Amino acid sequence: MASRALVIGVGSYDEDSGVHGYPTIDASARAYGTALTRDPRWGAATRTPVLEPRETRTADGVMRALHEAAAAGEGPRDTLLVVYVGHGAYWQDVPGGQVHFAVGSSRINEPWTWLSAWYVYRAIRKSKAGLKVLIADCCYSNMLPHLGPESALPGALGTRAQGTCVLTAVGGSVHNAWAGACENLPGPLDACTPFSGHLLNVLGQGMPDHADDLTLGALRAGIDEGMQECGVHHRPRMLLNDASEAAPLFTNHAKGRRPRTRALDTVDEWVRELLLNGERSLPDLMRRPDLAGRVVVRLKAGDEQRRDLARRVDRRAGELLPDPVDFVRYWGEIEPAMLGGG
Ligand SMILES: [Zn+2]
Repeated sequence: MASRALVIGVGSYDEDSGVHGYPTIDASARAYGTALTRDPRWGAATRTPVLEPRETRTADGVMRALHEAAAAGEGPRDTLLVVYVGHGAYWQDVPGGQVHFAVGSSRINEPWTWLSAWYVYRAIRKSKAGLKVLIADCCYSNMLPHLGPESALPGALGTRAQGTCVLTAVGGSVHNAWAGACENLPGPLDACTPFSGHLLNVLGQGMPDHADDLTLGALRAGIDEGMQECGVHHRPRMLLNDASEAAPLFTNHAKGRRPRTRALDTVDEWVRELLLNGERSLPDLMRRPDLAGRVVVRLKAGDEQRRDLARRVDRRAGELLPDPVDFVRYWGEIEPAMLGGG
């Protein structure tokens, strides 16, 4: 195994740069380092994954470290995890229109002093690691595309063995990721940005109703639920390419885990199951074709991840429902919703 993590946190900028620094950014980067070091899935690393200020000062420093981490991935069993916490900006009048990440020497309104996401995506895509994950806690992260080859970003180089995932602090049309701390979080996470603080809280607390590994789906669902409970945050976003919600990323630290034993019965329960574990238990759901149809209708009305899940369920419905009577019961739930514009 040659999994590698890289944490890029840029919390301070030159005084005359016009870019505001935030102590929450540096606190978040340090907390990612602590969480990764204590996680047996990641703790074997010989050096801390958190880049030092001399490395995050320039695009060159960040990209050298990123290329080194990306090159460590050797095959399908390896994971490349890249975390960025800092300022994000979006310029339309550069080739293709791109999100840019701030580095220590960035200056406001001078795009050439920022690191274009294009270069970051290019480096991540070239890695041979089977799972590639980018966590972006910055403004305009809602404008980041997924990492796969159909991406709007031009010039996808290299071939991707398997899945990719982009997890962003904001989604939809919300551009601004909040950098002020969330006081509802336990210390020291109450000194982090809200998105990273809530993400790290899921890592710290774990998910009691989930298995040994924290999967991509469990992580996203945990952040979502925690941030909704606070009631003051924007919703994060997860873009999967051909990675599954069931792909493991961290160790589940929850004590007294009680994996579900009873059968799932409602649309809500099945939506959550699919968000946590992808299509893993889809054959079970398809034993009740009408319920499966209602689940797809609910997913279609949701965010990008949910709509993508609906497409994946729908794609497999034909194969899992070979009896036309069952398929009609499934489709009978979906068709009226579609005609109704749902
Ligand atoms: Zn909060």
